[in-house]
Amino acid sequence: MIQCAGSRNSERPYCSRICCYSAVKNALKIKEQNPGANVFILYRDVRTYGFYETYYAEARKKGVVFVRYTLEEQPKVEANGEKLKVTITDPILKRELQLDTDLLALSTGIIPAAGTDALSQTFKVSLNADGYFLEAHMKLRPVDFAADGLYLCGLAHSPKLIEESIAQANAAAVRAVTLLSKDKLESLGNVAMVNPKWCKGCGLCVEACAYGARVLNEQTRVAEVLDVLCQGCGACVASCPSGACQQKGFEKEQILAMLDASNS
Ligand code: SF4
Ligand code: SF4
Ligand code: SF4
Repeated sequence: MIQCAGSRNSERPYCSRICCYSAVKNALKIKEQNPGANVFILYRDVRTYGFYETYYAEARKKGVVFVRYTLEEQPKVEANGEKLKVTITDPILKRELQLDTDLLALSTGIIPAAGTDALSQTFKVSLNADGYFLEAHMKLRPVDFAADGLYLCGLAHSPKLIEESIAQANAAAVRAVTLLSKDKLESLGNVAMVNPKWCKGCGLCVEACAYGARVLNEQTRVAEVLDVLCQGCGACVASCPSGACQQKGFEKEQILAMLDASNS
């Protein structure tokens, strides 16, 4: 087995978390069924984190051979007749090893699901640099999106083991129930508002709103604010070219009065 195949490099820098654990689990299964089998795991770091470390120790005890390689000096795979031959430099022996394989398994990393980009645009939710959905706050709101009423869990969020996905799914479900169990939702005090006389129906504020709180009324061609979704960020106000959009508590007259007061 070759670990980190196509992972933890400049193109895909993150760790997929499940592949080291899966490789060790598979190696133990092979050894259980055929104790005489030669099993090699070529790795960069063995990331069997937490209590899974005991499986790593057990695999070593059962004779699974772990050989380390680096990003700069990766194992070479070549055809050798009907089979594949793997060449690697063992960093402890400082010698080249040539391994004839009956079966070669590459631990390729997890990648974001197809359609993630489109989904993020539909719901106006952010993705992180690796292409996974981004939570509102890593510690304080780990299963919430920044916009209310949208939650995330599992591989949509990042690579993780099944039990981690289940725990996160439970958390997301509880967060959703918390919202659904309310008879009424209260909006913030500083939501945006639109002066319909000045609105030109350009739709720029709809594009600027990251929370899906702006819609353009197709009949009146006037922008509207969905108060309960509005987070009072003010992005729509800044984007409106005709001054039709204001935010309660930060209206133009109030801002100018504050500036005048600070200058006097
Ligand atoms: S879990 Fe996967 S990506 Fe992470 S170190 Fe192991 S093989 Fe590489
Ligand atoms: S202030 Fe404007 S941009 Fe910000 S959430 Fe409310 S409607 Fe959307
Ligand atoms: S940006 Fe201003 S003018 Fe354009 S639709 Fe929104 S409120 Fe109306």
